[in-house]
Amino acid sequence: MTTTGLVWFRNDLRIEQNPAWASATEQHDKVAALVVLDPKILGPISDFRRNQFLANVDSLANDIASHGGTLTIAHGDPRAIVPQACGHVDALHVNRTASGFGRARDNAIASSIGCDLSTWWGTLVSEPGTVLTQKGTLSRVFTPFSKKWFATPLPEHPSGGDAELVPAEGVESIELPSYDTPPIAPGTHGAHEMLATWLDGVDDYDDTRNLPAIPGTSQLSGHLRFGTISPRTVYDIVGTSTPGREGFIRQLAWRDWYAHLLFENPSMVDNAVRAEYDNIQWLHDPDGLQAWKDGRTGYPIVDAGMRQLAQTGWMHNRVRMIVGSFLVKDLLIDWREGEKWFRHLLIDGEPSQNAGNWQWVAGTGTDAAPYFRIFNPISQSEKFDRAGDYIRTWVPELRDLDSKSIHWPASAAPLDLAAANVILGDTYPEPIIDHAFARDRTLAAYKKALGKD
Ligand SMILES: Cc1cc2nc3c(=O)[nH]c(=O)nc-3n(C[C@H](O)[C@H](O)[C@H](O)COP(=O)(O)OP(=O)(O)OC[C@H]3O[C@@H](n4cnc5c(N)ncnc54)[C@H](O)[C@@H]3O)c2cc1C
Repeated sequence: MTTTGLVWFRNDLRIEQNPAWASATEQHDKVAALVVLDPKILGPISDFRRNQFLANVDSLANDIASHGGTLTIAHGDPRAIVPQACGHVDALHVNRTASGFGRARDNAIASSIGCDLSTWWGTLVSEPGTVLTQKGTLSRVFTPFSKKWFATPLPEHPSGGDAELVPAEGVESIELPSYDTPPIAPGTHGAHEMLATWLDGVDDYDDTRNLPAIPGTSQLSGHLRFGTISPRTVYDIVGTSTPGREGFIRQLAWRDWYAHLLFENPSMVDNAVRAEYDNIQWLHDPDGLQAWKDGRTGYPIVDAGMRQLAQTGWMHNRVRMIVGSFLVKDLLIDWREGEKWFRHLLIDGEPSQNAGNWQWVAGTGTDAAPYFRIFNPISQSEKFDRAGDYIRTWVPELRDLDSKSIHWPASAAPLDLAAANVILGDTYPEPIIDHAFARDRTLAAYKKALGKD
């Protein structure tokens, strides 16, 4: 008897090393491919991520067409559309998601379809529940998790077959909406090009990864976010043969860890992982929040990062930590405000990674992140952007300051400021807060919340 499978693509927009696709093409004579454009997801996201997503879908459609098939594109609520398409097939094949929103949707769909369901974890290296401590629990501290992660055998995945590719039936298909140039070259092809370029730099990763002025990281996060490349493919190609490579692959363990944590604790997006930190009395400071979003805080490294985010949809990791610390620990603004803004703008914006990292920055979550770790934005800037080139790129009004004054124009000599055409409070803002004052205020607020004052 001829059977037909349906693959519903979500954050796994590739056919290469995609276990849901491989299982469908291996098990069935015919396979249909479906993408649903969900207005609930597409509505609130920035143009960066929208353009990237649509370009990736376009690229997936081309890849499927090059194998003689069609990607069926539908628009609407997947809870209605997917069961309709399932009415015409024998099994639905999907890669699972760790997010609470996605899981609620998937559970609702699983209980309303009239066909078999085959689920995989195609967007992570390791599956939630497979990297555990000796007690059988998920480690709340990253280092033991990563040791175990490296030692855990990878799950077996099907290798795929040569099913006939057919359009999905039972759904109204639409043309892909038009989109503008995405921030990064789209699709699996774009991801492999980026990875190939990165292979020239990966061995130096330990030396370059914290330097935002140079391309010292892979910038693959946007591709991993949409699954145009599998993290397993990245792992296979890069390997761990040098310290730089191992350090880079360890970042994929961070990515898995945050996904496992969210899978175990779906409320991590909205609540502090350690409940006592939800007692912190955050400040209601709309002006401070707006200055932070606009990159007009008077702290050049913070402003550079926030402008890079607003102009490109991406920000270097070191700078994400600095701007995050500034929002939470200098302005004492709730980390959820920062999480929301990042999630809106980042091309790699994704609940598990974003909330996990924001809670790390705020010290409210997992790991041994002590709340009293407060980044000094000036010394961070001097250390990681020594010559000031990153600041010069994103805060051009400070371009002519020397490499000392550029980190902290507020204490530059008036003559140096004048020579560089910088007028504080006019061409560039005065600092919106004093770091030493803010530090003490934050320590007091955290201690109070923890009952340590
Ligand atoms: C406040 C804050 C919010 C963040 N929000 C997100 C987010 O929404 N989505 C996201 O993908 N990353 C997020 N990160 C993590 C990290 O900043 C980005 O993954 C990284 O900057 C992407 O650049 P890259 O691809 O060049 O990284 P590389 O250094 O080349 O690392 C390779 C890959 O490892 C993963 N990775 C690296 N660092 C981390 C990390 N700290 N946590 C989890 N995975 C990591 C990413 O998938 C990345 O593409 C956030 C970090 C902070 C401090």
